[in-house]
Amino acid sequence: MAAEVIDGKAFAGRVRAQVAAQVAALKADHGIVPGLAVVLVGEDPASEVYVRNKGKQTVEVGMHSVEHRLEAATSQAEVLALIAALNADPAIHGILCQLPVPDHIDGDAILNAIDPAKDVDGFHISNVGLLGTGQKAMVPCTPLGCLMMLRDHHESLSGMEAVVVGRSNIVGKPMAQLLLGDSCTVTIAHSRTKDLAGVVRRADIVVAAVGRPQMIPGDWIKPGATVIDVGINRVPRAEDPSRMRLVGDVDYDSCAAVAGAITPVPGGVGPMTIACLLANTLTACCRANGLPEPEGLTA
Ligand code: NAP
Repeated sequence: MAAEVIDGKAFAGRVRAQVAAQVAALKADHGIVPGLAVVLVGEDPASEVYVRNKGKQTVEVGMHSVEHRLEAATSQAEVLALIAALNADPAIHGILCQLPVPDHIDGDAILNAIDPAKDVDGFHISNVGLLGTGQKAMVPCTPLGCLMMLRDHHESLSGMEAVVVGRSNIVGKPMAQLLLGDSCTVTIAHSRTKDLAGVVRRADIVVAAVGRPQMIPGDWIKPGATVIDVGINRVPRAEDPSRMRLVGDVDYDSCAAVAGAITPVPGGVGPMTIACLLANTLTACCRANGLPEPEGLTA
């Protein structure tokens, strides 16, 4: 039987609608408008697209959106000064610095300068520690989106065998922490893992965050498993190699033939990431104002 397709685009639309409704209620009941500031240093074309989409969607849900586009030659001290100003600005509840930053800037120093309460990307060392110790944190957007889809699909994740392929700080590691928080038995695999196929075959839940086009074939998937494909890879089209198409880290067709459920690329995890950024900004705003957190939008 073919796998159920988990429609991340539709799910993200529902999350945005939920956020928009709560933003409207915050305005009406308390006169508060959540604000998100995005800092972009340099002219990375992919980052420009992400920042534009983030700004557009922030405005669409009724939030205050601020973009700071800085030249590639901006010094680290100047970026830190901007972050300090945003930390002190009461109209801003969420701050994110788009990665990657130019080589002369220490990305970790920038991320750790953001007030942890406004760290809507969840990359500040304090939030990493809070998540790792099971405390209330700001959770990285991509893994949060994956968790929301898994929780929606399964009644409970408790006791399930989960394999996360990839150990990056932005996806693999926080994803593993979230799955552990929901009582999965978690394995984190990476480029040095022995018998990766055998490890993945054990999984009831596979999260692929590798950055290698279609690396995981269907015969690595346990029948009925849920496959979450985080990968976004551009490959030449078969019919016209001068044009590119997006594929994930799993081989969709062969995996969909075996899995119980699967996220497509595009239209799976990708749209959930910005939706979760908006959710995190709303959560940060509620926490900053001592108001109850929105339900179902946090880990
Ligand atoms: P990353 O920082 O490059 O990490 C990739 C991970 O994959 C590393 O831990 C690496 O292992 C592991 N890996 C590489 N080759 C492997 C192999 N042959 N076998 C097993 N593991 C292997 O990447 P990332 O930032 O986590 O991103 C992963 C993918 O997700 C990319 O395609 C990226 O574009 C996509 N992504 C999507 C979203 C979204 O919104 N949908 C957000 C973020 C990222 P080592 O640590 O041993 O090197």
